[in-house]
Amino acid sequence: MKYFILFGPPGAGKGTQASLMVEKYSLLHISTGDLLRKEIENGTELGRQAKTLIDQGNLVPDEIVEGMIDSQIDAHPHVKGFIFDGFPRTVAQAEVLERMLAKRGHQLTGVISIIIDDEMVKQRIKFRATQENRVDDTKDEIIATRIKNYHSKTEPLIDFYKKRDKYFEVNGAGAIKEIFERICKLIG
Ligand code: ADP
Repeated sequence: MKYFILFGPPGAGKGTQASLMVEKYSLLHISTGDLLRKEIENGTELGRQAKTLIDQGNLVPDEIVEGMIDSQIDAHPHVKGFIFDGFPRTVAQAEVLERMLAKRGHQLTGVISIIIDDEMVKQRIKFRATQENRVDDTKDEIIATRIKNYHSKTEPLIDFYKKRDKYFEVNGAGAIKEIFERICKLIG
């Protein structure tokens, strides 16, 4: 079983690249952001809790997303592998993921990190706001909070995975197809 993490700041294009990987490699794409938005749409209690945090640009509690990932893995025993997008986002989540895979006798295949700078993050999110209806994409201060949270809580994962020799970078600037070719070269 393959387990890839698509890593990068908000707006790096993780979702876009994940769909291309799904087509080419028949993997299952699991986006914690999409799963949370589905909970909100369905008006669940979990969705209500998550909405306030997401709309402020903050992360939802680790246990919530960890539980979602665990049940998604269980729900798809016959796939070739998974692409996690937006997870893990904290060192605590990465540690839990390691245990979740170990208890199944599996391990992470690799982390593909899409590199773009903060200016490009802002431009991409502004563009996405014109295409999709996401409250967290519209206000400058919410976007700033998300970028700040990315640097303080998510970026430490780079060292975490470098230490385990699982970390690979691709340049996230350029056309969607070019970036996808860079990813394909990495994973072969
Ligand atoms: P983006 O990558 O553009 O920030 P996502 O769709 O991945 O968008 O996530 C949207 C929001 O959902 C995040 O800002 C955060 O509030 C919440 N979220 C998603 N994944 C996680 C996670 N692994 N841990 C905590 N919060 C998460």
